[in-house]
Amino acid sequence: MIVGIDLGTTHSAIGVVDSGFPILLADEEGKRIMPSVVWFGADGAVEVGRKAQRRRATDPMRVISSVKRWMGQDIVLENVGKSPEQVSAEILKELKRIAEWRIGAEVSKAVITVPAYFNDAQRAATKRAGELAGLEVARIINEPTAAALAYGLDKLKDKARVAVYDLGGGTFDLTILEMEEGVFQVLATHGDTRLGGDDVDAMIRDMLLDAAGDVPEEIRWRFLEEAEKAKRALSTELSYTIRIPFYDGSSSLEKTITRTDLDKMTKGWITRSLKCCQQAMHDSGLLLAELDAVVLVGGSTRMPAVREAVADFFQREVDVTQHPDEAIALGATIQAGVMSGAMRKMVLLDVTPLSLGIETFGGLMNVLIPRNTTIPCKAGEMFTNAADSQEKMAIRVLQGEREMARDNWELGKFEVMMEKLPKGQARVGVQFRIDADGILEVLARDTKTGKDTAINIASSAVNVDDAAVEEMVGASVEHAFEDMSERIFTEAKLKADELLPAVEMIMAQGFVEEHEREEIEAAVKDVKATMASAAANALKAAVQRLDSATEAAAARLVEKAMEEALERELGL
Ligand code: AMP
Repeated sequence: MIVGIDLGTTHSAIGVVDSGFPILLADEEGKRIMPSVVWFGADGAVEVGRKAQRRRATDPMRVISSVKRWMGQDIVLENVGKSPEQVSAEILKELKRIAEWRIGAEVSKAVITVPAYFNDAQRAATKRAGELAGLEVARIINEPTAAALAYGLDKLKDKARVAVYDLGGGTFDLTILEMEEGVFQVLATHGDTRLGGDDVDAMIRDMLLDAAGDVPEEIRWRFLEEAEKAKRALSTELSYTIRIPFYDGSSSLEKTITRTDLDKMTKGWITRSLKCCQQAMHDSGLLLAELDAVVLVGGSTRMPAVREAVADFFQREVDVTQHPDEAIALGATIQAGVMSGAMRKMVLLDVTPLSLGIETFGGLMNVLIPRNTTIPCKAGEMFTNAADSQEKMAIRVLQGEREMARDNWELGKFEVMMEKLPKGQARVGVQFRIDADGILEVLARDTKTGKDTAINIASSAVNVDDAAVEEMVGASVEHAFEDMSERIFTEAKLKADELLPAVEMIMAQGFVEEHEREEIEAAVKDVKATMASAAANALKAAVQRLDSATEAAAARLVEKAMEEALERELGL
């Protein structure tokens, strides 16, 4: 038996396939959705979910929420001295306990969902949290993929394309899926890991704090709670009055807020999500009319303004048939059922959210697996030595969309030893393999010696801020022009560095004919001048000019060398 788990930023849930049907398991209070909140008592006691939430009133500093935002980061949370993985593990342990209590049997395997935007480190951290909780993680799947499964969109028609708009408490994803005969493929995914309903709560709270004046830090959580209540109410009511009596012992606050006020406040926030939609649509190469459905998931899609804006953007009615808080856990459960054999077979394919590659000559990013590649996948390329008798090659594994290595993130670094050979003669094959959980393995092999060096990126947590993922894609668009011109310049300069000494040698050894000399000399001057000016396209053109000016002479050199080799071989 395998359980399905939605490990959400604000809420989590667990389910199992029972008699062929996926169901979510309720706790002792009958609740199927558990707040992702953990309290660590000073004496070592731990409470999770609603119980932990209640501790906020008496022990707010030891209550941890939204820990998912920190997953994959190598930090320890202040006040409680726990890593994000350890906190997540407590949430998973509690879900496991609820499931075991409901089912009456031990639970040891799980499918866990993560935002489509999670990078390797974040996925690996999620997996480790599962292990810490005593769960073998059978598969990590993307939340939108799980949502599509829950909607049964695979049954829409033989081939269907859907967009899943998932706006939760802390993260946002827009994913475009294609389904064909029960096979899912993610065509594109884009998101913002710092966009969610929490932002709206904070906006309303700030408005309340402004109205209240000086409010002590320790009681501000009450304002936040009331803000969230108001937000929820305004999903069904047109106006709501917030009342916070005697919040500091003597003062009280009463403030009425209308749906129109809220809509105004959240306009920019909704637009941020639509920008991601635009990017994902662009990446998918589809037209809006080619989508068969648009699905809304995540609690924040209950807001009428969100529904309207999304329907407007996609120019169609949106599908809200599922319980927005339960769809992802249900999808994870369906996937778990498929894997354990409790449900019919279905294959899931996901994609890489960012490009993966290594640094090569001149500090350039060499992409091996482009962004939005379907996983599991494998890619390899051959590299050579940059200098004579080089003993080792440094492999820097990079993730990101920028042309220069320095602008991307380093996921790992290692060295491969190689046989000492003249420049350009060594052969080192580098292979990237991403498994079904989205975890990357990098293997480098000296093809001469056959010696392998491998690293598993999953085991090295990277200190990356979640928001940086969004920034990375934004930056690559923003800097596209400079980046490209730096790449052109670097490539042209590498070529020039090779060409100039070679041309000098060809001239010195008399391979150049008199009528060629003037043009070659002019071309050399041109290359040197443009190299100093740092003008990318001009350097590229100058290098090309020099290349063609010396073409005939270079051919003569090669011919001569071959003649000599032949003579040696024949013993002449
Ligand atoms: P999720 O992460 O999918 O559980 O979504 C949780 C987010 O949905 C939180 O920010 C909630 O405040 C928000 N939410 C839940 N119910 C409503 C509602 N009725 N109206 C507006 N937002 C809601």
